[in-house]
Amino acid sequence: MSTRVHPELHRDIARFGGDDITKCMNCGNCTAVCSLAGDGAVFPRKTIRYMQLGLKDKLLASPEPWLCYYCGECSDTCPRDANPAETMMAMRRWLTAEYDHSGRGRRLYTSEKAVVTTILKAAFIPLALLLALHAVTGFQRIVTDRVELNTFAPVMWVWAVVLLHFAFLGYHLMMNALHMIQHIMKPEDPEAKVPWAAYLLELKSLAIHFITQKRWRECGEEHDGQWLTHLLLVSGYVIMLVLVVGMLGWFQTDNIYPVYHPQRWLGYYATLVLIYASAAMLIGRFRKRTQVHRFSRPTDWLFPSFILVGAITGILVHAFRYAGWPWPTYGMYLIHVMAMVAMLDSEVGIGKWAHMIYRPLAIYLMNVKKRTQNQAVPEAGALPTN
Ligand code: SF4
Ligand code: SF4
Repeated sequence: MSTRVHPELHRDIARFGGDDITKCMNCGNCTAVCSLAGDGAVFPRKTIRYMQLGLKDKLLASPEPWLCYYCGECSDTCPRDANPAETMMAMRRWLTAEYDHSGRGRRLYTSEKAVVTTILKAAFIPLALLLALHAVTGFQRIVTDRVELNTFAPVMWVWAVVLLHFAFLGYHLMMNALHMIQHIMKPEDPEAKVPWAAYLLELKSLAIHFITQKRWRECGEEHDGQWLTHLLLVSGYVIMLVLVVGMLGWFQTDNIYPVYHPQRWLGYYATLVLIYASAAMLIGRFRKRTQVHRFSRPTDWLFPSFILVGAITGILVHAFRYAGWPWPTYGMYLIHVMAMVAMLDSEVGIGKWAHMIYRPLAIYLMNVKKRTQNQAVPEAGALPTN
């Protein structure tokens, strides 16, 4: 099978970060120090070589960039200061843009103007929908002598829009994940087939890595703090997703429940861990003390910033509601929803969501391939019985 060379590949990936890679002399020191490389995954040297040689198809078919958790060990020990860790990050951004056939990922990663326009457009949608709703039903229906949030933003309408939005975003994310699967699982030998049983039997590993991202811990004990912060963030985020997407009728209510009611403590837990984790991420990016925070791009700031804004505005809605202030409650609710819609529109498909899906998916696909190879070897090498 012929391999097409794309000489512009490393310049294209440099638009996504990691522009020191021409310094790399392929000594392999980075692969030797990486505690996650091995067992059939030779990175970062191999993927950097693909990039230098312009082997775009090979890079698109490589799960390796997703196996890197950006500990920075390889950059700290690179004799040429080629910064392989940031190059792996740039490759992940580039791959995310390549999997996204809408072209939106590339625009968001490479144009600050596109980021601002996307955020403003998305944030405008809830405002326009609320104005349209009240223009049709009459603004006088909004209760203003006490707080009745459901007269300002009727929960069943909000829930219907949330479900439609998530269906759209879910479809987008699923299509991108499908592109990734097609690239990685494309067989070099067209006759080779991966049995469906291998996909089914490895689903457990997909679920485990999706929930725990446990390979991160193999980077060493010094990275356990980052892993734990990430796990807390995921727990808070997932609780909020379940409450908003699956249980909004129960969660957005004008009833004031006692403090031990699950509606309150689930909300408090999720809000607190989201504030803690997003603040830790933002402080890390400001300080730039660790490798993972040293080379932030504008898109890297979006997720923790939106999470922090979402959590703080959520608390304020809660506080204003308890204080009995109708307009501050309604205004803050609108800001909260606008921020969350903007976050989802700019993050799904390119940001944290993409990373959360692509990483476990890459590990899963590697496991599927290994399982298929392990089963194929004895068969191919079996002695004839007669
Ligand atoms: S990135 Fe650095 S350590 Fe890795 S192969 Fe290139 S020169 Fe060697
Ligand atoms: S950043 Fe860490 S995990 Fe990633 S390639 Fe370098 S050493 Fe390996």
